[in-house]
Amino acid sequence: MNLGLSLLYAAERTPEADAVVDGDSCLDYRDLQRVAAKVAGGLASLGVGRGDRMALVLKNRREAVELYWACQWLGAVVVPLSWRVAAADVAYCVADSGATVVAFEDVGLEHARACTDAVDRFVAVGTAGAGSSADLAARFCAGGEAQPCEPYESLLAAGEAPGAPEDLDDRETSIFLYTSGTTGRPKGVPRSHAAERAGGLSQSLHQSYRPGERTLGVMPLYHTMGIHTVLAAQIVGGCFVCQPDWDAAAALELIESERIGSLYLAPTLFHDLVHLPDLAGADVSSVHSLAYAGAAMTSALVERCVAVFAPEVFINHYGSTEIYTYSVDFDQRAAPGCAGRPATNARLRLVRPEPGTGPDDEVAPGETGEIICHLGSDEAFAGYWNRPDADARAIRGDWYFTGDLGRLDDDGNLWIVGRIDDMIISGGENVHPLEVEDVLERAPGVREVAVVGLPDDRWGQAVTAFVVLDDELAEAGEHAAVARLDAYCLESADLARFKRPRRYRFPEALPKSPSGKILRRVLREQNAGLRR
Ligand code: AMP
Repeated sequence: MNLGLSLLYAAERTPEADAVVDGDSCLDYRDLQRVAAKVAGGLASLGVGRGDRMALVLKNRREAVELYWACQWLGAVVVPLSWRVAAADVAYCVADSGATVVAFEDVGLEHARACTDAVDRFVAVGTAGAGSSADLAARFCAGGEAQPCEPYESLLAAGEAPGAPEDLDDRETSIFLYTSGTTGRPKGVPRSHAAERAGGLSQSLHQSYRPGERTLGVMPLYHTMGIHTVLAAQIVGGCFVCQPDWDAAAALELIESERIGSLYLAPTLFHDLVHLPDLAGADVSSVHSLAYAGAAMTSALVERCVAVFAPEVFINHYGSTEIYTYSVDFDQRAAPGCAGRPATNARLRLVRPEPGTGPDDEVAPGETGEIICHLGSDEAFAGYWNRPDADARAIRGDWYFTGDLGRLDDDGNLWIVGRIDDMIISGGENVHPLEVEDVLERAPGVREVAVVGLPDDRWGQAVTAFVVLDDELAEAGEHAAVARLDAYCLESADLARFKRPRRYRFPEALPKSPSGKILRRVLREQNAGLRR
């Protein structure tokens, strides 16, 4: 079933159920389906047809959700892009995708301006504080742009796009998600209606969504976690409560006021949330399902989340933009950080992590190997957009090579060891950042930590910890901090002596991706010359 029909079914099944909340505005499924059909009509009047690409540079807000569903209704391909990256990066993705229309809000004005060589039309989406859509459109044009720019509301006036998308094949493309990976240009990941819907279905199943589930919509809609949160909610007549900017205190208020039932966030966001100072008085009793993805969660953080939310289910979702779910662990309380068993739609193998290995080069039981996932998954992509080089690297036979290392424990559960690219070879021994981070994260005085290997004359690579300290330890001074952390690692039974950091750095914050992943690559690049 394509996603336009999926919306129609939801509107017929639960017309009165809340679908989107954004500040004071709330749309139920009946409203959402009608608005989507109208906006689809407006997009058609701008010349957007089936298969055409439409780019969004928008935060998580009602209009972004409406435009997303309008594209699904029309059979157009939505290309949600990050407003956090440089304007030139957005322009690259817009040109690469061949988008003909860009919708933007205030924060994306410069990004939109950077796209005028490639794009015919623009849609301005107003923001209360910064003026109406018409004002924003006027500001865009005042920059000397020759291309027409419509205020968003005018799309609603064009009349509904005729009919429902009954004849759209669900193998057609629904969305392009851009993934930056570890090196090089961002890659477009086209995903079909069928694959996207399968991802929404499996998420609602894995995360125990209830009818009318209410979920916090803060993971960006240009990331696979954000968009699947919309889709999973729609499967159960659930509600996506928009939070445009991450702010832990504001998120806590939304959890209370909107009676949020499910939280599906990157670990960093959970970290901010459970370390809020005034958490004790908050009513978080509505939350029954916790899930994280995007990066491993340390056991210290799992324990803290359990203490704060006492969730019924606590899931680790391991997946990617290319194939939405690889594996799921259903009880993080019992095994913090464990990535569990292959997901409903996935088949996994571990193969030798060497260049040129094939899908049949499986490692022996218990050994670390590269995780590969069969492309027969209902949630899989079918190759990158115009990137035969990337296809050749990642797809061998019918298998997708994730670039992640993992191992199976005696019970057959998967543990993510880290990215192949992040592995540290120090004194000839392999050290994976996560095992060191997991220990250091528990040390008193540590807020956040990232571990990388930096060039070292003696060790080849020196295990180097970048630690954000709490105020108390920071005041004690760097010397004292190093001594205490080193002593903690030496005493820890979980870390071999040779794996403990040889160097420490104490930045105020760690570099992170928009989805909250710590960017070890950036730490490596910025500190490559550090020799001490
Ligand atoms: P993305 O395509 O941005 O979602 O990134 C996918 C990558 O994020 C995976 O290949 C992993 O390296 C990492 N990742 C995703 N989920 C998890 C998880 N639950 N635990 C550890 N790493 C994860």
